[in-house]
Amino acid sequence: MSKRERAARVGVALASLAASKHYKLDDLSITVYDRVLADVRVDDIEAVCRGLEKDDGPWMPKPGEIRAAAIARARKHYRDTLLAQVEAGDVPAPYCAACNDTGWEPTPGRRAVEPCGCRRHNPRYQLRIIGD
Ligand SMILES: [Zn+2]
Repeated sequence: MSKRERAARVGVALASLAASKHYKLDDLSITVYDRVLADVRVDDIEAVCRGLEKDDGPWMPKPGEIRAAAIARARKHYRDTLLAQVEAGDVPAPYCAACNDTGWEPTPGRRAVEPCGCRRHNPRYQLRIIGD
């Protein structure tokens, strides 16, 4: 997706939300929303805005509120995806024998541990740190 396509989709989502709240988005507001939401997936922004349109609150959510809701949505989606993989039996147990999915690997020759290299790709560890 090009920057232009992204800006257009986010713009439509925000304009629709603003209309539902009888809020007028000016150019400065749009710039601030774009900047705050720059690192959030467009699908999440659109879904959050659609959901907020149904909310009976009268106020236009602040950029940070939309960002937080979009990140929470993305996190839930990621968690649900990992959980489905684990429940389907697609992930061995333990996934990582070095750390037994704790994310901490014993340091050879010392009574210490260090972060395990599996952390970024270990579904069982990721589920543990995401929580509920
Ligand atoms: Zn590991």
